[in-house]
Amino acid sequence: MSSPSLTNGEQSALDAAQRVARDVIEPLADTWEIERRFAHESFAAAAEAGLTALLVPEHQGGRGLGPVALALVLEELAAADLAAAFSLVVHNNFVRGLAASGNQHLIDSLLADAVAGRAIGAFLLTEPGAGSDAAAIACHAQLDGDEWIINGEKAWVTNASAATVLNLYAQTDPTLGHRGIVSIVVDASTPGVTRLEPYQLLGGHGMGTGGFRFDDVRVGAKNTLAPVAEAFAAAMVGIDLARVVVGAMCVGMLRRSLRVATEATKARQLFGASVADKQGIQWMLADVATDLEATRLLTYRAAELLEAGADATLAAAHAKKFAARAAESGIAACMQSLGAMGFRRGEGNPLPRHLAAARISAYIDGTTEIQNVVIARHLFAGESQS
Ligand SMILES: Cc1cc2nc3c(=O)[nH]c(=O)nc-3n(C[C@H](O)[C@H](O)[C@H](O)COP(=O)(O)OP(=O)(O)OC[C@H]3O[C@@H](n4cnc5c(N)ncnc54)[C@H](O)[C@@H]3O)c2cc1C
Repeated sequence: MSSPSLTNGEQSALDAAQRVARDVIEPLADTWEIERRFAHESFAAAAEAGLTALLVPEHQGGRGLGPVALALVLEELAAADLAAAFSLVVHNNFVRGLAASGNQHLIDSLLADAVAGRAIGAFLLTEPGAGSDAAAIACHAQLDGDEWIINGEKAWVTNASAATVLNLYAQTDPTLGHRGIVSIVVDASTPGVTRLEPYQLLGGHGMGTGGFRFDDVRVGAKNTLAPVAEAFAAAMVGIDLARVVVGAMCVGMLRRSLRVATEATKARQLFGASVADKQGIQWMLADVATDLEATRLLTYRAAELLEAGADATLAAAHAKKFAARAAESGIAACMQSLGAMGFRRGEGNPLPRHLAAARISAYIDGTTEIQNVVIARHLFAGESQS
């Protein structure tokens, strides 16, 4: 793959991501995990560095990154910590949607704060009773004059513990299925909105995942982001790019894990030689290196297709599926090469965090099985041979 040619603006975003990763995320990521709290410091540093409007065009105050540059930025951030990186992904998607499709009221009242990271965005599609089958959501929105009345519950909301603005997907008429869904921007402090306790998870606590309940919440109809009949499609806009970004975050975690493993195995002595001298260890890490290379190639091939304006649905599904699997097995192998120390948090060892985050990559933006649904659809339509 040719090395990507970035614009000056894209290179400056990448430089900023490297600085935030090195100076803020790396030193604090274990603290967020141990204290099980949102990565506030990372979000604030990213806002300060201009990383909270990566997909917003420059004339609207953003960075206007293309898909390849976006993937590179998220690779850097996730090499330090996927949770801090994904928190920014979700916020950036919110701001992109607002800038691209928001009406004048939403743009005037919210865009500047969201671009600057003073407002923190979240995406509320999943519910306790509906995940992959997103068209089956039950949270209900009903128009009463010029206001929506919202009732229901949302689950698995990234940024839930810190978000100030919620992009809520709700059903207006269950008989219409996905055509009945509307998307509404809800201020998290609106009466009737309850922020539920953040979840206790295997890892990734820095992204503050949790739920919200809505009890007779009244929101002006002017806060509609995507109208009925268009909202479900709006939720899927950018899904290929989102999958590419997950691939890139896995590249970052694998890259960092492999570096930790090679350095630690060279330093550790056993049976009169370094661990890295053992061929069994060399081959174990050589396999990880091959998976890293394949993940990188699949991911950036899909990113380049998107950059060229081509259809990347199949390529993004392949990349995301492979990346999530390679990250989980590869990080576990790196951990094994360190012996018991690989299993211990802190001491400059990101492997426990990265291993838990590799699990997260198998769920977000479509599970591994949903990627297989996409791939099989192409396979049986005879479109996979190209
Ligand atoms: C840390 C984290 C953060 C998240 N952040 C957000 C967020 O910000 N906003 C949001 O809306 N959601 C978010 N999600 C939710 C995520 O999108 C869902 O977990 C995902 O859509 C799967 O839904 P589910 O967990 O309800 O599983 P289900 O849909 O109940 O699926 C159960 C199992 O069945 C499999 N399956 C589903 N369909 C098929 C099929 N057709 N064939 C074979 N197998 C199938 C699934 O892959 C899974 O293994 C987050 C999840 C996690 C873990």
